[in-house]
Amino acid sequence: MAQKEFRDYEGLVNRVSGIFGLLKYFPDELSDEEVEGVLHVLPKDMATTIGAVMAPRIRRASLAFLKGIQQWFDGARAAKAQGKKIILVPFNFPPEFVYCFENAYPLTSEVLTVSGVASLEGQGERYWDFAMGLGLPDYLCSSNTIELGSALTGADFEPDAIISAAPGSCDANSKIHEFVARYLGVPQFLLDKPVDDSPRGRRAYRTYFRSLVRDLEEFLGEELKEERMREVLNRANQATRLYYDLWEMRKARPNPCPNIFTLYAYGIRYTLWGTDIAVRVLQAMLDTVRERMAEGMYPAEEEVARCFWIYTFYYWDWYGFFNRMEERGITVLGDLLGSFFFQPVDTSTREAMIDGLADTCWDYAMTRQVGAESMSAQWVDDIAYWTSQLDADACIYCGHHSCKQTWSVFSLVRGEIMKRTKLPTLMLQGDAWIRRMTPMSALDEQIDEFVATVLKRKRTTTARRVG
Ligand code: SF4
Repeated sequence: MAQKEFRDYEGLVNRVSGIFGLLKYFPDELSDEEVEGVLHVLPKDMATTIGAVMAPRIRRASLAFLKGIQQWFDGARAAKAQGKKIILVPFNFPPEFVYCFENAYPLTSEVLTVSGVASLEGQGERYWDFAMGLGLPDYLCSSNTIELGSALTGADFEPDAIISAAPGSCDANSKIHEFVARYLGVPQFLLDKPVDDSPRGRRAYRTYFRSLVRDLEEFLGEELKEERMREVLNRANQATRLYYDLWEMRKARPNPCPNIFTLYAYGIRYTLWGTDIAVRVLQAMLDTVRERMAEGMYPAEEEVARCFWIYTFYYWDWYGFFNRMEERGITVLGDLLGSFFFQPVDTSTREAMIDGLADTCWDYAMTRQVGAESMSAQWVDDIAYWTSQLDADACIYCGHHSCKQTWSVFSLVRGEIMKRTKLPTLMLQGDAWIRRMTPMSALDEQIDEFVATVLKRKRTTTARRVG
């Protein structure tokens, strides 16, 4: 009789890191035939993602990006084996701060969720369901609850501590991180955003950041060393400059930067800033964009609409969302989570570096806008700035059904955007991380209708070469 093999229930991080582990055996260049062969043996959900990222126009940069994320996962496993502490951080916290410690390694909960949604058969749904099954409310944020639901199963790679930078910005994010810390019995370190956005508020935030530094030093038994900080932050600064080079190129019409690169750039920002890997991946993206720009390449005959996503975009169908959209001439210029105000950090002294990190942390979207004195005012100010910089034609909003912060001010924000920038704003329903809510075909239809009726006659930009 054939032997049946039973496998233990596995968590998201364990499964995803196993899958990404295979990437190290991939060559840096893959032919169309090789891609075809790989797609043939992959489970359906993963094959859809890999099929999207292996489109010839983005293949080289995609491989650099995927291998970068694979190294991030491998780094976490190696760190654990060496007795270092794994610190789970949210997507409004700079991972380079954790890299400044020798005995710590950062994992970012929302990036783990996106990795699961992109690569697992069944996406991250079973972990969302597990969290719901524990009695947690469904108005939690799917971006972190999917990964944290996995941590709650007790069958996953566990963090040794959690930093939460969401208090003052997002209750849903703060509470689920706190719940997981208590459930797993690991310490949680809080970084509060004061309501005050004046220079006095900034000073208070720097003070809170210093207390976080002391708490972590005590927890890790290690003093933050100036020389190591400088090494890490010099690499982070190098990545920051490359990030802005990419940003500058996105201003061209038609846009030479493939839609999915907006996701790659901040995927790297949230995980590997401060490492050589981040620099390498950004460089690979820049090389592709430069080549495309020089040849006037664009995936459609004309760029019909340049859309800025004023919150998040959808992460569960990379081909449908990024590739098919640009093949219809619709550019994704960026979204809020990938648009930053951070600057290279002054590395002259230890104190200056700590202040620079605190300022970087403040300027992440969720802290800067959602946690602002007036969320709607700060949100509109920032959108007006980015859309004018990137020469946008329109804005699109999607989030997830439970992001009460953004939903509560959306109508106000849409009205103000229209008044200030004259840009029409489309509102979409659905959940950025859960495909069950609204299918891509319905979203496509609404976007196409918006472009055809509101935008098409405005202006178009023809490509020199299609590809
Ligand atoms: S602000 Fe919205 S998207 Fe951000 S963590 Fe909170 S609920 Fe999620």
